[in-house]
Formats: sequence, structure tokens, C-alpha cells
Amino acid sequence: MKTIVLAEKPSVAREIARVLGCHRRRNGYIEGPEYIVTWAMGHLIELAEPAACNQAYKRWTLGSLPMLPNPMKHQVIPRTKDQFAVICELCRRRDVTDLVIATDAGREGELVARWIIQEADWDGTVRRLWISSQTDSAISQGFRDLKPGSAYEHLFRAAETRAEADWIVDMNDTRALTCRYDTPLSAGRVQTPTLAILVHREDEIESFSGAACWTVKADFSGILGSLRDTSGSARIASEEQAQEITDALKGAAGRVLSLERSPRDEPPPLAYDLTELQRDANIRLGFSAKHTLDVLQQLYERHKIVTYPKTDCRYDSLKLTIEAAGHRFEAKAVEMKHLGWKQITGVSDDGIEELADHASIADLKEGDALAVASAEMKRELTRPPARYTEATLLSAMVHAGRFIEDTKLKRSISGSGIGTPATRADIIEKLLSKYYVEREDRYLKPTAKGRELIRIAPEELRSAELTARWEERLAAIADGLERPEHFSRDIRKRTEELVEDIRRSKRLFSPDYRDAPPCPVCGGAMMKVQGKEKQEITACQSLSCGYEEIDGKPTKKVKAMERRAVKQFDADRSDPGTTTFADLIKASQQRKEKKRRS
Ligand SMILES: [Zn+2]
Repeated sequence: MKTIVLAEKPSVAREIARVLGCHRRRNGYIEGPEYIVTWAMGHLIELAEPAACNQAYKRWTLGSLPMLPNPMKHQVIPRTKDQFAVICELCRRRDVTDLVIATDAGREGELVARWIIQEADWDGTVRRLWISSQTDSAISQGFRDLKPGSAYEHLFRAAETRAEADWIVDMNDTRALTCRYDTPLSAGRVQTPTLAILVHREDEIESFSGAACWTVKADFSGILGSLRDTSGSARIASEEQAQEITDALKGAAGRVLSLERSPRDEPPPLAYDLTELQRDANIRLGFSAKHTLDVLQQLYERHKIVTYPKTDCRYDSLKLTIEAAGHRFEAKAVEMKHLGWKQITGVSDDGIEELADHASIADLKEGDALAVASAEMKRELTRPPARYTEATLLSAMVHAGRFIEDTKLKRSISGSGIGTPATRADIIEKLLSKYYVEREDRYLKPTAKGRELIRIAPEELRSAELTARWEERLAAIADGLERPEHFSRDIRKRTEELVEDIRRSKRLFSPDYRDAPPCPVCGGAMMKVQGKEKQEITACQSLSCGYEEIDGKPTKKVKAMERRAVKQFDADRSDPGTTTFADLIKASQQRKEKKRRS
């Protein structure tokens, strides 16, 4: 009798198969004398689209909201249906009695496996491999120490509850906003707070009023020192004061107050996690987070991960303090002892500006006299905060807890932030493809539409607090301390209220579409959007209008609408010269309006 081993990804399955002595490669699995190792490709099963749950959900209307299917339906993800079929076939083999879940040791990994097992109708024994590293010894030890599947029941329930709650919140809020404001809008527990981070920064930049300040630098026999006040700040608020200091320095003598030498060992950074790699690839190579993820996935399939020297980088961070004309000046230098791992990554200045030559500083001692060769003042402007790049946005998502005031809540997402390493790139891509955000060089800038969406979106969707509250309760479910039904009941109730709030909202959706060309039909704003096949469409932002074009020509959908309109209102064809699509649609809209009034 044989045991099926279900891994999360093909690359992990190959490692496990090798350790378990399985060598016969088949289509979708690797077989050995005792084990058959197969794999998922992340999720193979997902929650079904609304229309698959209920025919009434097929059309997007406010009347059909909220959508709260119970129980929720599952569907096989079309893209990976062949692999699911392979697993189903394995589950039906007569020589198989036992299954080991070997997906990632965490909430999402548990869900990947359990949904597959459920949908494949597996009724044999289930055990769980729970390992935190994939070395040969960890895998062998893990297989000697398999846990009963039932030990992870609570974790599975927490995972499933999270997935269902996301479906309910995302689908209902997206539809409610879209129908209420008659324009394509989308909202989500992770997507909306991420957009809010960008919008908030844009507001800060706009409301920023730059104030001038002055700095003073003096040249002490070739060593450039910056003036510091007692708090260590280099800024001087008034021009008069800066001028006074500069004048006093002319011909003055300086004296070394101290030379501090502090040896530093900088250990090599830990191996990359996905978010960190995406951050660095964006900074160094200008890659989008999504592109890095794609490249990495390819590397997984073909290559082994490379290593780099594991020796520390060693240097001395020298700080010279000089006194002149009653003021303190500082100069800094770095004496590199041993480059270590920085041979590979290169030495960045890490925010230390204008380092002096270490050789000119190293031999100085307290009391040494240094003549002031020259002094100059400089007017500087305090700068507004910078826009986010993909790299800094990824960090902000990881550290989303810092935007939360409640310390207990803050703690509940301090380790994870919003989104997961695997989904953050997709969230950023989604914001770009929905045209809530656009790229300006390497910066991400929210569009007028994105900013307006944040203004009208329900308060609790705009912050990371919702995620923090969920994480708290999901952790309790995973520990068996809270019943998933209670969480689910609360989410459903809250969704009903949110949909009602949006429905009743008196707000107007009026983004500042200043540069958008007008729609030839209704005069509304035309914007570039991404179609289903990722093609670029210019579409009217009014859904009830629905006009759209590709390369300046009406799309097939518009032509079909036109044909329908012509058929419906034959009278309008009497003068062919005026029967443009715009006229027909306008006539159609007027008729509908008349009918509704009468
Ligand atoms: Zn229009």
C-alpha cells in the first residue's frame, strides 16, 4: 500500500521525492516504492464567483446585495485544472490508503491542501508534515514525526473563515460602490488600505508648505565640518543668525574637542524573503514587484538558489567634534577594515552624507588646533515627504501596524502587516490596472479616481485596522478559542450594514478628471482601463453609458449596443445623417427616463 504526499509547489515536491526515494517521474507526480509525491501550484480550488452561487447575483444591482451565500461554493481554478485531475486520479487508486499533507506549514498552506482533499472526495487517513525548513534532515525527521491531520482542524477552520470573509467583504463592497456611484470601482480588505496609504501621502505632499532654513559649514584645514546645535540639529531657523555665525568664523581658530572611534561589525543580512527581494529589485533594477515574483518563480523551477560570502563587514564609524567661535562642528569618516559581504552588495552610504577622508581625521587628538580656512552658509528648504516607490510601499504594507493607534491592535499585525508576501505584488498591479495609481518614473502616484475612491470608501475599509481585528480573532479560531461561526456571523452582519451605508450615502463621486477626454455619448470622462485580455481600452467612466473604444474606434460591445438601439428605436433611423451611436443612446436614455417618471 502506498501513501500520497501533497506538496504546495512542484519545486518542494521534487525535494521531498528525492529524500523519500521516489524517482519515477510521471505526469503530475513522482512515484517510489512507498510514496507518491504530487503537488498543488498554490491554490487549485477557490471560492466560486457570485453567479455560480446564485442566478440572482449574475447582474450587478444594488437590489441583489448583500450576497451572503451559505454554505459557500467552491470551484476548480481553470488554469490548473489538469493538475487537480491528476490528484483526483491518485486519490482513487486502489493501492493508496494514506495521505500526507506537505504544503507550507501555515494557515494558507493548510487551506491549499484541505480544499483539494475535500473536492477530490478523499476519504482515507490524513496526516500532516509540519517542518519549517526544507533541508534533507528536516524532511526525514518530519516524516518520522508525522502529526494526525485532526491536530490542524482549527487552523484549517481559521484559514477557511478568512477566505470566506474576504470574499464577502470584497465582492459586496465592490458591487455596492460600483452600482451606487455608477462607475467601475473596486474595494478590498487589503487593496483599499494600500491605496489609502498612497492617497494619504499625496495629501501630505499637497498640504506641505516648505519653510526655509540655513546650514553652516566650515573648512578646517581641509576637513569639512557641519555646524550642530546642542540637540544635534544642523538647521538654523533665521538668516541673520546664520550670517552672524559665518562672520564670526572668519579667521577664527578651531580646536578638536574629541575624536570618537567606534568599531562596528555589520553582520550579513539574512537570506532574502520575497518582500525584501522585491524591494531591492525595485531599488536596484527598477523591477516591479510582480516582475520580480515572476522571475523568481522561473528561477525556482530551473536553478538552485545561490549563496554569498557569510563574513561580516567590518569598519570604524569616526566622529570628529570641533569647537570654533563658540560653536560645535562635526565631521564624520568611515575607515573600512574588511568589506566582507559588502564585496557583493557594494557599499552604500546608508544616509551618511559627505564623509570626510578618514586619513585626514584618523591622527587628530583632543586639543589639536585647526584653523578655519573658510565658512559658508547655505539656504535650504525643508522637503515634503517623498511619494512611495514599489519598494517603499511594500515596506509600508509590511509595517502597516504603524498606522494604527490602538497598541493592542497594532501588535496583532506587527509580524505580518497587510497582505501576504505572495499577494502584495498582485495588489500593487491591481491598483495600477484599475487606474487608481499610475507610475511617475519610479514613483507611485494615486490618480484622481483613486483619491476620490478613498474619500467615499467606508472608513473601516480605508485602514489596516480591519486586518488587525481579523488577525486577532483568526488567531483565536486557530487556537480553538473562538468558534468560526461567530466570526462569520459578525462579518455577514457588518457587511449588511456596510452595503446599507453605501446604498444610503448622500456623497457624490466626483473625481477631478481634469485631463480626461470627454465621452462622445454622455460627455463624461473617458479613461484608459485594462480589458479582460489585458488590452488597453478607453472607456467612459459612467457605467450606464458604457461607451468604450480601442485605438479611437468603438469596440465590438459598443457596436452591438448600437445595433440593438437601432432595432429598438427604428424611428430614429428615419434621418440617417443623425443616427450616430451617441444620438441613439441619448434617445434610448431619454425614453427610459420618461418611462420611469410615468
Ligand atoms: Zn459616456
